[in-house]
Amino acid sequence: MAIDGEWHIGDNIFMDDLRGQIELLNSVNRKLMKDVKMLHLICETSNSAFLYYNYEEDTFRTIANWDYFFDFEVKSTKDFNRFYDCVEEKYAVPLKEALFIEKRGMQSTAIDVKMKDGRMWVEVEITIVYDDEGNPADKIIRFKDVTKFNSQNDELTYMAYYDLLTGLYNRNYFVRLFGEQVHRAGEEQKEVAIMFIDLDDFRKMSDELGIIIGDEIVQNFGQYLAELSEEDIVISHFNGDIFCIGIYDPYGSRSVASIYSRISGRLEKPFKLSSGQEIFLTVSVGVAEYPEAATDTLELINCAEIVMFRAKENGKGRIQYFDGSILEDFLQNVSIENKLKEAVFSQNFTLYFQPQFHTADRILRGVEALIRWKDETGRSINPDIFIPIAEKNGTIVPIGSWVMEESVRIYAGWKAKYHYPMILSLNISAIQYKQPDFVEKVVEILKKYDISPEEIELEITESILIDSFQEVTEKLAILRNIGIKISLDDFGTGYSSLSYLKGLPIDTLKVDKSFIDTVITDENTRIITESIIYMVKKLGFETIAEGVETQEQFDYLTAIDCDNIQGYYLGRPMPPEKIEELLVKILE
Ligand code: C2E
Ligand code: CA
Ligand code: CA
Repeated sequence: MAIDGEWHIGDNIFMDDLRGQIELLNSVNRKLMKDVKMLHLICETSNSAFLYYNYEEDTFRTIANWDYFFDFEVKSTKDFNRFYDCVEEKYAVPLKEALFIEKRGMQSTAIDVKMKDGRMWVEVEITIVYDDEGNPADKIIRFKDVTKFNSQNDELTYMAYYDLLTGLYNRNYFVRLFGEQVHRAGEEQKEVAIMFIDLDDFRKMSDELGIIIGDEIVQNFGQYLAELSEEDIVISHFNGDIFCIGIYDPYGSRSVASIYSRISGRLEKPFKLSSGQEIFLTVSVGVAEYPEAATDTLELINCAEIVMFRAKENGKGRIQYFDGSILEDFLQNVSIENKLKEAVFSQNFTLYFQPQFHTADRILRGVEALIRWKDETGRSINPDIFIPIAEKNGTIVPIGSWVMEESVRIYAGWKAKYHYPMILSLNISAIQYKQPDFVEKVVEILKKYDISPEEIELEITESILIDSFQEVTEKLAILRNIGIKISLDDFGTGYSSLSYLKGLPIDTLKVDKSFIDTVITDENTRIITESIIYMVKKLGFETIAEGVETQEQFDYLTAIDCDNIQGYYLGRPMPPEKIEELLVKILE
C-alpha cells in the first residue's frame, strides 16, 4: 500500500510479487520437507545409522537407527572412544584408523567390525567431502548391520578350511599347514613327519553297509583322530577314507611310533555306530619324513601315499616307513603302466603255452596259455609284474579278451590239424570275471572257433573268491553248467583252508610251486602236500602240481598220486610252433 493511503498500480505489482515469492517459498519448503521426509525414510529403512560431522561448525548429528547400534551419543571426537570399547579388541585400532581417514587424505573407506558381545557384525563406512580448497568439509559415517552376510561368510570360511564330516582340516588347508611345518623345519633344522592313513577295506564296507554308514565310519574315526591333535600336530581328513597327520619335530610323545601305537590301541576296540552296530577297523599307514624322503611338501605327501600302498600290499593293518626302494619300484610300475597302455593299443603281446602231463603215463593233458610281453626296446617284462598293474588300471580287460580269443584261435588250429584231445587252460583275472558280459563272451568265442566247453579250463585264484565270493561263485556255477572246467590256481598261497574247498564250484586244484620247491627237503611241507593231495582227491577234484623242476620231485609226486604235473622238468612255456612239434612227436 502507498503512503498516501491510496492504491497505485505499482503497489499492486509489489503485492503480487510478494505473494508470488511467499508461494514460491512455501512450495520450496514443502518440497524440502518432502525431501527431508524421504531422506529420513530412506535412512531409517536402510538398516543403518549415520553420524554426520561438519568441520566448520565442529558439530555431530546422528541420523536414522542410531539406537539400534549404540546406547550413547556422540558430541565430540572424544566420544569416539566409546566405539572402540564396543568392538572386539582386534578391531579397535583398525577402526580408529578408518575413522580418521582424512589424516591420510582419503575420500572413503570401510571396515567390518565385530561387536564385543559377538552378537553383531557392523560395517562402518566413512566418507569425507572436501571443499574447493581441498579441506575436509563434511564427514559421513555409516553403520550397517552385516551380521547375516558375515555369518554366511563365516560358514564359507569354515568350509574353506575344515571338512564338514569330521571337523578336521580339509585337504587344501592341510597342505598349507603342513607346508608351513616343512618350511619351519627347514629354517630350524628340524624334521617333519607325515602319516598317510587309509582305512582298510573301506570300499567293501560302504558297498555292504551303504554310503551313509560309510560316512559315519569315517566320521567316527576322524573324531577319534581329532583327540590326538596338539601343538605341532596337524590332522586332516584328506578325502574319502584317507587321513593325514603332519608332525613337526616328531620325537618323544610326538613320535610317529607313539602316535601309531595310540591309534592301534584305539582300533583294538570297536567303533559304535548310531544304529548300535559295532565295527572294528584297521588302517594302513605310510610314513615319510622331511628331509629324508623329500624336501617338497607335495612330494612328501606323495611319498607317504606310495609307501602306504606298500603297507596294503604287505597285508594291511600295518605301518610302512619310507624307503627309497619302494619309490623306485613305484616309478618303475608307473613307467610300465604307461607302456602297457600303448601295448594294449598296438597288441604288442604274444602267447606261450606250457604243457601239462598226466603223472602216471606222462601223456599230454593240455596246455596253459601264458602271456608274454616285450616292450618297445625288446625287453621282456614278467607277467608277474605287469598283470597286477593291468588289473589295477583296467587294461586287463582288453588284454584278457585278447588272450582268450588268440589262444582259442591257436588251439582250434591244432585241433583241426592234429585231432589230439586236450585241454586249454586260461588264466582269468578277477576283474574279467566281474565283467557283466564275461560268460557270454566266453561262449561266443567257443562258438566262433567251434570248440566244445569241455576242452576249456578257466583258472581262478583264491583272492577272487575271498573278495567277491557270491558274485564269482554264481558265475563259476553257470560256466560249469555249460561244461567248462574251473581250476583253482596257486593253491596254498592264500588263506585257504581245506574245509572251505568243499563247497567250491571247481574241478581242478593246482598245488602251488612253493610247496613243490621244498617238498623234497622239508618234512613239514611233505606232510602238508600229502594231506592236500589226499583230501582234494577225496573231494573229487583233479590235482596238478606246478613248478616241478626235478626228477626227484616228479617221482615223489607220482608216489603220492598227484594226477598231473606242470613244470620245467617236463616242459617249459613255449611258443605255439614248439607245441606243434610236441604234438607231431606224440602222434608219430
Ligand atoms: P601262474 O598261473 O601260476 O603260471 C605259472 C607260472 O610259473 C608261469 O610264469 C610259468 O612260466 C612258471 N613256471 C611253470 N613251471 C615252472 C617251473 O618249473 N619252474 C619255475 N621257476 N617256474 C615255472 P609266468 O608265465 O611268468 O606267469 C606268471 C603269472 O602271470 C602266472 O602265474 C599268472 O598268474 C600270470 N599270467 C600269465 N599269463 C596270464 C594271462 O594271460 N592272464 C592272466 N590274468 N594272468 C596271467
Ligand atoms: Ca595259472
Ligand atoms: Ca599257479
